[in-house]
Amino acid sequence: MSGILIYIILKIGGKNMNMQDWSKNVASIIEYAGHIFPEVEVVTRELSGKITKSNYKNISIRSKKLASALEKHGIKQEQCVGSLALNTFRNMEMFYGISGMGAIMHTINFRLHPEQIVYIINHAENKLIFIEPVFAPLLEAIQDKLPTVEKYVVLCSKEEMQESKLKDAVSYEEFIEDGDEEFVWPDLKDDAPCGLCYTSGTTGNPKGVLYSHQSTLLHAWAGSSANGLGLKKEDSILMVVPMFHVNGWGLPYLAPMNGIKLVLPGMGMDGAALTELIQNENVTFAFGVPTIWLGLLNYCKENNIKLDSIKETIIGGSAVPYSMIKQFDEDHDVNVVQGWGMTETSPLATANLKTPEMEKMAKDEMYQLQTKQGKPIYGVQLKIVDDEGNRLPEDGKAFGRLLIKGPWIIKRYYKHDADAVDAEGWFDTGDISTIDADGYMTIVDRAKDVIKSGGEWISSVDLENAAVGHPEVVEACVIGVAHEKWDERPLLIVIPANKELTKESVYDFLDGKIAKWWKPDDVVFVEELPHGATGKLLKTDLREKYANHLIK
Ligand code: ADP
Repeated sequence: MSGILIYIILKIGGKNMNMQDWSKNVASIIEYAGHIFPEVEVVTRELSGKITKSNYKNISIRSKKLASALEKHGIKQEQCVGSLALNTFRNMEMFYGISGMGAIMHTINFRLHPEQIVYIINHAENKLIFIEPVFAPLLEAIQDKLPTVEKYVVLCSKEEMQESKLKDAVSYEEFIEDGDEEFVWPDLKDDAPCGLCYTSGTTGNPKGVLYSHQSTLLHAWAGSSANGLGLKKEDSILMVVPMFHVNGWGLPYLAPMNGIKLVLPGMGMDGAALTELIQNENVTFAFGVPTIWLGLLNYCKENNIKLDSIKETIIGGSAVPYSMIKQFDEDHDVNVVQGWGMTETSPLATANLKTPEMEKMAKDEMYQLQTKQGKPIYGVQLKIVDDEGNRLPEDGKAFGRLLIKGPWIIKRYYKHDADAVDAEGWFDTGDISTIDADGYMTIVDRAKDVIKSGGEWISSVDLENAAVGHPEVVEACVIGVAHEKWDERPLLIVIPANKELTKESVYDFLDGKIAKWWKPDDVVFVEELPHGATGKLLKTDLREKYANHLIK
């Protein structure tokens, strides 16, 4: 009788009970790595410059101590725990200790304006915040505006702990001291939240993206696949992308999942600190954004350094210029893999991995192909549409709004009432792209940055990439500014490498590399360009400053 009942229930419920359920807790990754890859190193350059070597076994044990300490301090499942932290072994422990006990690891970008940090902390209602000692003054100045925060944990040893005005401050090492090494990771429900990251909010308030354990695990699996990031077991990864920015592109999960060594630079992002780490830790794979790599490449050039150990670098966050791809290859024998993604996409969505066909190409053809943002990773679907939402052909020419869907793509912003996707589940990325017949996606521009000149479109990204190829141009930014006849025309703003650089030289260089009618109406030389909190050019300020530059 009961057998028939179960059969009927299963039939009605439509559930297949033949395969096992699985633990959707990201802590399963560190638990695995602690057992299977115990000795694989996690190397950190601490704030003091000291190099500290941990490994997956230690991180696994210490994240359990942290999880248990959080429970003892009354942190409950699904509560947000904030962090203003650098890339260090302690941050790795937080990724597992906080999320693994069921709370939400809320990574906060310390480069944001203090008012935005206040907004984010209040919006997430953090009870507890982990901070690096260097950020204590920043938090002390705003803590009166943070009513939900009851305690601050300073990421240092007992001995390093300085006197602090922060509420109930304690050092990290003291906090986890009595934590239980035998802590058992809980089973969590299927859609349990794991991490929270806010977009930079260049317009309006930042918006929160709440990742689940399931989406994070699937993202890490997909990133580990052959068509993911192309990581290899023997790699030693330099993680220059900050852990606070979209989960450090998934590396805190991907690396232990695959038993890959991690090299974490802490605060040391300058050329000298990075090259020292690269050489001493035999780095083979480096992850970063173009602006940091620009500094590193220049440093290497000035000091005649070759990055011998590095074989590949994954670059994303903004478009990678042709000149950078070429310089990495010619000067350092490093293959550039471009990746594209955003906070809303966890972030891994496309990657431009080297293919056997590329190996056979002439260098110039290969570099051109590598300027594309790449093919979608399995799990992610892409399409391009016109302003009316009609699907555009994937011929490499038609361009339109890039829409995305998949198991680690946002559905709704944190605490918002309405979904961020359309009725069919597509999320509008705000990027304008082409997709070609081979499946390569290319970003033409961000919708808000594209220049509309006399009804035609000019890509600011293409112009910037062309200009930065000039040997005496350090960095280039193109914005659309008001024009009496054409509505908008491109203005090129450049940081010159020396005082000798002239407008004529820039125009001569661009000649033949861009369509004639794309030629910027003026070139302005500046000493500095503004960058947002994630290293992208901050064009809003420049648009305001140069709004009437072409109007007489
Ligand atoms: P923010 O920096 O504003 O927090 P994200 O990090 O989420 O936001 O930025 C996502 C955006 O960055 C994308 O929508 C795209 O415009 C840009 N981006 C990311 N990777 C690339 C790339 N490889 N090429 C060009 N643009 C990129």
